[in-house]
Formats: sequence, C-alpha cells, structure tokens
Amino acid sequence: MKLTIVYDNEIYEKNVGLKSDWGFSCLIETKDETILFDTGAKGKILLNNMKILGIDPCIINKIVISHEHWDHNGGLKTLGPIVGDVELYRLGKKQPSENMNLTTVEKPQEITKEIYTTGKLRGTPVNEQSLVLKGENGWYVLAGCSHPGVETIFDAAKQYGDIIGLIGGLHGFDDFSILEGLEVVCPAHCTKHKKKIYELFPKISVECGIGKIIEI
Ligand SMILES: [Zn+2]
Ligand SMILES: [Zn+2]
Repeated sequence: MKLTIVYDNEIYEKNVGLKSDWGFSCLIETKDETILFDTGAKGKILLNNMKILGIDPCIINKIVISHEHWDHNGGLKTLGPIVGDVELYRLGKKQPSENMNLTTVEKPQEITKEIYTTGKLRGTPVNEQSLVLKGENGWYVLAGCSHPGVETIFDAAKQYGDIIGLIGGLHGFDDFSILEGLEVVCPAHCTKHKKKIYELFPKISVECGIGKIIEI
C-alpha cells in the first residue's frame, strides 16, 4: 500500500512547485483502489499539488473525511465535480453538493479490504475518525488531527490488530510513551511537538510533508 502526502503544513519535496498550507490530505493507493483521506483546506492547492506529484484526481474512488474542520474538508467542493459520484465517508451531513455518495460513519467499518475506520470517536472540540491500514508487516493508524487523543484512537484501532505505525496530525499530543514499541511514527500537519518526537524516537521517526511517500 502506498501513501502520498498531498496537503500539509510543510513541503517534503522542495523546489518543484508544491504549495504548503495549513491542512492535511493523504492519498492511499492499494492494489485495486485509490482513497483520499481528507482534502486539505483549499481545493486549488490540493489540485496543484496532485498535478505536480503526477496524480490524476479522477483515479480517486473513495474519500474519507476524518472530521469536520475546514482544513480537512475544505477541498471537497472543488474536488466534487472532478471525482464525480464517489463514495464519501464522513461523520456529519453537509451540503448535498459535497455529499457525493455519502455514508455517515458511526461505528467501525470496512472502507476497503485493507482499510478500516475506527468509527466516530469522541473528541474535543470535534469528533473524529481515523483510518486503520493493513500494511505488509502490521497495522498503521492514519489520523487527521487526533482530537480524540492518540490513546483513544489506538484503543479503537487495536480491534483490527497490533498497531506498528502512526501517521498524521497529532494536535496537542504529548503522551509520548504511547509511541514506544512502534516501528514508524510520521507526525504531520498540526503536530505541536514534532521536534520532541524526533528527539525521543530518532529511529522510528519519519519526516512528513507534501510529496512524502510512505510504503507500508
Ligand atoms: Zn487540522
Ligand atoms: Zn482539526
């Protein structure tokens, strides 16, 4: 499974025209499906970054929105006419034009054979879902902002198997001991203590940013 960061606060692949912005989006390519996890804040920037990374948005067949914050769902409006009637998994019901083929997520459920959602988890200030991805060697969590807290997300994700990796926004996260035993941590987007994570876990830390590709 191949993950490509297409929207982030930072750029990984420098000097090629990628634009950073506050927000997050990650493209997930499996053997037979392409899922976009979050859409960043601005559709224009999302499309610019995809173009430069050689990604045709028409290949997206499912979209998952982690939570209803503008920096995660903002790109949907622009994406709508391009991707058409794809499956959209989100926690809330928004304007019909953004709703595509809507599934309102409550409980943990399958997105594809290798990708599952934790279901709606209670968070402050908003509820959120994270994805649980089946990699070659174990399970990975892909999170938007981690508003429910990493511990809560991991507790929900563990129902699928042992978690060996964490990728995504880790907002106010500072309970670093939770990361012990992981094989990969890739703090992105709104992670407040990125440097601290790199310092504490140099062997497993992976630098994020737009253009970063992670094969799991
Ligand atoms: Zn965010
Ligand atoms: Zn958020």
